[in-house]
Amino acid sequence: MTVVTRFAPSPTGHLHVGNIRTALHNWLLAKQAGGRFVLRIDDTDVARSREDYVEAIRDDLAWLGIAPEAEERQSERFALYEAEFTRLGQAGRIYPCWETPQELELRRKVLLGRGLPPIYDRAALALTEEERDAKIAAGERPHWRFLLDNTQVIEWDDGIRGPQHFDPAQLSDPVIRRADGSWLYMLPSVIDDIAMGVTDVLRGEDHVSNTAAQVQMFEALGHEAPRFAHEALLVGTEGKLSKRLGSLGIAHFREAGIEPQALVALLARIGTSDPVDPALSLEELAASFDLSRFGRAPARFDEAELERVNAAVVHALSFDAVADRLPEGMDEAAWEAVRPNLAHVGEAADWWQVVTGPVEQPEFDTETRAFLAAAAETAETIGWDEDPWHALTGALKQATGRKGKALFLPLRQALTGMDHGPDMKALLPLIGREAAVSRLRAAG
Ligand code: GLU
Repeated sequence: MTVVTRFAPSPTGHLHVGNIRTALHNWLLAKQAGGRFVLRIDDTDVARSREDYVEAIRDDLAWLGIAPEAEERQSERFALYEAEFTRLGQAGRIYPCWETPQELELRRKVLLGRGLPPIYDRAALALTEEERDAKIAAGERPHWRFLLDNTQVIEWDDGIRGPQHFDPAQLSDPVIRRADGSWLYMLPSVIDDIAMGVTDVLRGEDHVSNTAAQVQMFEALGHEAPRFAHEALLVGTEGKLSKRLGSLGIAHFREAGIEPQALVALLARIGTSDPVDPALSLEELAASFDLSRFGRAPARFDEAELERVNAAVVHALSFDAVADRLPEGMDEAAWEAVRPNLAHVGEAADWWQVVTGPVEQPEFDTETRAFLAAAAETAETIGWDEDPWHALTGALKQATGRKGKALFLPLRQALTGMDHGPDMKALLPLIGREAAVSRLRAAG
């Protein structure tokens, strides 16, 4: 049986880092098994769903390098939900309810006040047929609940949490449809998982109690439930479910100069004790993806770690991979010269500016100025083809007796305007003789 996974976002906002992790893990799980990954747009809430969010979700996945094998939309599948709803109704597994939210809230409070779990009391199930008919005749539209089978203990072997047991009597019959006919997420998701042949549902642990009810929905619809795995939630460095994480999306990471490979490498390992390996491709990450490595402790997302992973990724990027993001004229030699000094690809432009000039030099003292004037003359005479930095500093060392910092720092400052930076051996040939001589002369 091929593995089929799905990522099922509601297009009511942008993906955040938690959703992105879920998407990635589902993709990795499918790829590892040579299976299929489906993007399912959960847009049953027509009023809140937006097309621009759907597009943003597609773009975000594409940026990460994730290409779904198929895309489905729940808003195009209402006829199927209707048919299955009817079937479940005929089987006695759904029932209409008329309680108002206020009534339900009051009952919850009463139960909680007595120290009891706030489970729906199935009062609507006790209505007689006449009572129901009277409400319908009066134009009172019901919402609908799925009737859990309290005689069947709910069990599944969770891919991350291990064996799970739920007593259905401890759960409320879930509302699956609102009075206006619109769908809540629970039932359509199960109908689609069946129709799309989903074999593995991997999602956040905030869905565990939904899974308990959904296991019975699969059975009620005559299908075996898929394998389930629930991941520990993502937390920020402060150890809390932060608001910040909820707003961190791909747009933020792109703007911050994060490479997709860095985000993917980190998110693939987050929640495991395995080290993050910035060198791994998506295919390699898929091959080594292993649900059993994931623990139940909250997974910590650390932006500082992401920055470190990103720098490592940037240091290994080839010229071809970045050429279209470099400033006009910046060639492979220049990229390779500055690459080890970058935390983000965008900073290459700053170093290219140093190469092409003009540079802003510091004030030098009289002695240093004499040294730099001599350096300008030397730069004019040395051979430039081999390794001009070695030739220049070698000649100056001999002529002036300067060495170490006293030799190198003023040259670097005069040539680049900076105290630190890429290896001068690589930088000086890029600056070229003419510009080097004139910078040294201006400083001298
Ligand atoms: N649309 C649901 C959500 O975003 C999907 C959950 C699921 O993976 O089943 O929470």
